[in-house]
Amino acid sequence: MKIGIVGCGGRMGRMLSAGVLATEGLELAGGSERPGSEAIGKDVAVLAGGEPSGLLVTDDAAAVFAAADLVIDFTLPDATAKHVEMAAEHGTAMIIGTTGLPADLQPAIDALARKVPVVQAANMSVGINLLLGLVEQVAKTLGDDFDIEIIEMHHRHKVDAPSGTALALGQAAADGRGVDLDAVSQRVRDGHTGERKRGDIGFATLRGGDVAGDHTVLFAGDAERIELSHKAGSRAIFVRGALRAALWIDGKAPGLYSMRDVLGLS
Ligand code: NAD
Repeated sequence: MKIGIVGCGGRMGRMLSAGVLATEGLELAGGSERPGSEAIGKDVAVLAGGEPSGLLVTDDAAAVFAAADLVIDFTLPDATAKHVEMAAEHGTAMIIGTTGLPADLQPAIDALARKVPVVQAANMSVGINLLLGLVEQVAKTLGDDFDIEIIEMHHRHKVDAPSGTALALGQAAADGRGVDLDAVSQRVRDGHTGERKRGDIGFATLRGGDVAGDHTVLFAGDAERIELSHKAGSRAIFVRGALRAALWIDGKAPGLYSMRDVLGLS
């Protein structure tokens, strides 16, 4: 499998290039960065901390899509929107890890997934994907006598909130209760908010330091609380998941797959 990495100069992008270079069965096909990035023209492998590969970072993402069987995208929503179009044009499979994607991008991703296999997940770690199943099950068992609050913390550079993972956990809780998340989610509280509405699913966002990603789903009842938590020690867990998805996707039929599909948890 020839793998292209868009956003190969980013925190995830560099680790993904290093991971592809170190994984048997995967071959690095190239990497792109945003026009004007200081990574342009540098060797993709050197940027990732390795020996020169002869592949230079380009701002021509379409060339990366043309050269690759599969492109891994951990960038920004605007960039991912363009990359989805390129993937459709070139018939390139995709792994999409970018979070904070607008809802109106989903039809284009769904259309791409009718042509090629696509894995899309806000969190590629094994632990979080296990947690999604547990949250759904606990929410279903407890019902709305227990108030659900989702608390997340990430490093100071994160640009979207709540995290894609927090929203996925909220979706799992809503699925467990059989409700529409949009109708019950409380994403911000400020000032005189009035009492908590029964059935709401609340979110709280913390930002600071170099935290790779902490998530807690809190079920608060009368005189007891249940907390389900996951703490990411490093981004390596997301990279491992993305590489596992890259190996898994080979030969799959077109379709939109989740990490729970990749890990056999669905
Ligand atoms: P980052 O800012 O370090 O990296 C993003 C990179 O994308 C940057 O180098 C930027 O220059 C590049 N980029 C922007 N526009 C581009 C374009 N048009 N073409 C090519 N490259 C472009 O951020 P990060 O910490 O690596 O995270 C990236 C995304 O991945 C975020 O949305 C983050 O939330 C998400 N993420 C997802 C998971 C997961 O498991 N799904 C895990 C970690 C991070």
